[in-house]
Amino acid sequence: MRRLVTAAVAAALAVGLAAQPGVGTASEPAGSAASPQKIPSWIHQRFIPFGAKRKHQMASYSLRHYGVRAWRLKHPRQIVEHVAVASTVAQVIHSFAPDRPDPEFHELPNTCSHFVVSGQGRVVQLVPLGIRCRHTVGLNHVAIGIEHTGYRDGDVLGNHHQMRASVRLTKWLRCRYGIAIGDVIGHNESLSSRFHRELVPSMKNQTHGDFRHASMRRYRKALHDAGRCPR
Ligand SMILES: [Zn+2]
Repeated sequence: MRRLVTAAVAAALAVGLAAQPGVGTASEPAGSAASPQKIPSWIHQRFIPFGAKRKHQMASYSLRHYGVRAWRLKHPRQIVEHVAVASTVAQVIHSFAPDRPDPEFHELPNTCSHFVVSGQGRVVQLVPLGIRCRHTVGLNHVAIGIEHTGYRDGDVLGNHHQMRASVRLTKWLRCRYGIAIGDVIGHNESLSSRFHRELVPSMKNQTHGDFRHASMRRYRKALHDAGRCPR
């Protein structure tokens, strides 16, 4: 049985690899749950390396933490907002790009988020939406991660250019995947997420301090004010 599963995963990996764009290409991977849709021109793509080895590590991570071996993000259900604790997009890319054990849990693959929004309002995609990233313990199997340059919630909430770009990105994502505003959460809200799942006992209560509930109330208000999804 185990061998069959392994073979199936190997086959899935092979298919996935064939469908993956190369680093730096402007296409999305096939097999996305959403209907095919072009990435808007205001999203700049600077994909970090996410080859077969990193995908395999992500699948193993998913098995350990969620009970299912998979690296594909098939049905995103939530969007998690983060503060990067870094001042530039380059610094964020620099910390995510190398596939080394993360400094907090010493696990592979290295952590990452799908997007980063700069203080000037530039939106950069780092990982294709069909791939899982390690950005929020308990939610990496269902959540898209968005980083923001800055050091605390107020840096982002108080930056008009960054907020406008972030809300535009989050609205586009939530409308693409049918995610309600209530399922746009802050990293610090992760433990109360209805999708939270963590099999490793020592990590069941693990979260970070970025984008607390009070900050997310303001963020979700801005998202609400940005209007409904186009029909
Ligand atoms: Zn975070």
